[in-house]
Amino acid sequence: MTDVKVHDKIFTTFISAEKIQSRVAELGIAIDKDYSGKNPLLIGVLNGSVIFMADLLRNIKTPCEIGFIRVSSYEGTSSSGKVKSIMGLENDIQGREVIIVEDIIDTGDTALYLIEEIKKKNPASIRFATILLKPEALRHKIQCDYVGFEIPPAFVVGYGLDYDGFGRNLADIYQLKS
Ligand code: 5GP
Repeated sequence: MTDVKVHDKIFTTFISAEKIQSRVAELGIAIDKDYSGKNPLLIGVLNGSVIFMADLLRNIKTPCEIGFIRVSSYEGTSSSGKVKSIMGLENDIQGREVIIVEDIIDTGDTALYLIEEIKKKNPASIRFATILLKPEALRHKIQCDYVGFEIPPAFVVGYGLDYDGFGRNLADIYQLKS
């Protein structure tokens, strides 16, 4: 176990870079199998998905394209609280085989919103890839097609995930030390 300080908190090794790499290779094989003869469009959700996207992409042999979007959430005036909006979503996804690439699904709020918004652009299909999923925190029934690891609902950093902007560059995934 290795500890690392990110900003003002101590985190400890949780999933090694080797484990991540071999799991991402398996996800690439699964995507190749599912999209044989097709030309999927991988849409990464910034900033957290950048590392996973780069690794996943290099493990896919099927010809594919990529794009990136950003989801911003802010407190709305409505009673529903958080309001989200998507930046960078182009209109040229009509008829495309879309794979949304995320860093982590926690409550599933973001995933649900993304799927609903992207559906409005009439893609041929939508699937969801995430390196991490917290099943116990999920509040919605989300179809997660390509999941790296299912983890308990504790805060993690590394492999693209940040704590207060830091820690994205760590090759391993770390869990907050209690
Ligand atoms: P959800 O909408 O599923 O509740 O949350 C998704 C977003 O919350 C992720 O894209 C990520 O930015 C953030 N998030 C959720 N859990 C964690 C975590 O354990 N660590 C980090 N760094 N971000 C998290």
